[in-house]
Amino acid sequence: MVPFPMQITRLFEFDSGHRIPNHNSKCRNMHGHRYKLELTLSGRILETPNQSHEGMVLDFADVKRLALDFLDTLDHAFLVWQDDHQLIDFLKTTDSKYIIVPTIPTVENLVKFIDENLQPAFAKTYNDSLSIKSIKLWETPNCFAQITHK
Ligand SMILES: [Zn+2]
Repeated sequence: MVPFPMQITRLFEFDSGHRIPNHNSKCRNMHGHRYKLELTLSGRILETPNQSHEGMVLDFADVKRLALDFLDTLDHAFLVWQDDHQLIDFLKTTDSKYIIVPTIPTVENLVKFIDENLQPAFAKTYNDSLSIKSIKLWETPNCFAQITHK
């Protein structure tokens, strides 16, 4: 796909729990974060006259709706690594919401996991007019990981 020069970004926030089971310090404990996510889309400005989205890459309301379809599954959920059997066994005994993730839920792996889930949703709906340019995921006010596409 030809890269588009225009980028739009929407911010999201969600609360999730996790732990880094092999970490040599406090991150091995179960704890939570208020994650902040910056989703940047790259696309062309739509020019169909007299349409609601004329002059936009994508209506921010549509960005929100599509992204929240997935991000809401993470909100107030415990994000547990698929090989963290001790914790999965425990979570099964509770009525708490949890999501099993394929890799250790560091912020790097989580931004990759989110990207892998958001890409198909946006590609399916807007394949030839826009694409996800980057996703930045803040784990704390000072630390984030970012995945960027060409
Ligand atoms: Zn943490």
